[in-house]
Amino acid sequence: MKLFSDKFKEHNLKTTPQRVAIYKEIQRSKIHPTAEIVFREIKKTFPNISLDTVNRTLLTFARIGLITIVEGRGEPKRFDANKSNHHHFRCIKCNNIVDFYDQSYDRREIPKEITKRFTVMSKKMVLEGVCDQCNKKKEKK
Ligand SMILES: [Zn+2]
Ligand SMILES: [Zn+2]
Repeated sequence: MKLFSDKFKEHNLKTTPQRVAIYKEIQRSKIHPTAEIVFREIKKTFPNISLDTVNRTLLTFARIGLITIVEGRGEPKRFDANKSNHHHFRCIKCNNIVDFYDQSYDRREIPKEITKRFTVMSKKMVLEGVCDQCNKKKEKK
């Protein structure tokens, strides 16, 4: 929660129980949830909260660098509270996104083509394929 209070102070945002709950939920969740999924959980504690509020709160968190928005493809945005250096495996069937860690990926150099033109601020490998769960389902048929 330290990052949370630091960032909130830095950006002069008010800490509300709803915001704290949303942050805790996104931190707890390992599935890179959409706003809708977070909303469904938060609603259990705050029945009056709207999906729009949850969505805007998540976007604010992303804006101040508390969480990141997962690189997407036009589908609903997915959010990630894991701030440590990590990479993603995305299942093309169930859209599950799993974190993984690999130091050799972390150390990989960025091509000159890119560094010549752009300022790189973060680096993430995204692997795509079929996850173990979906592979299992296929075998059963
Ligand atoms: Zn899958
Ligand atoms: Zn992640």
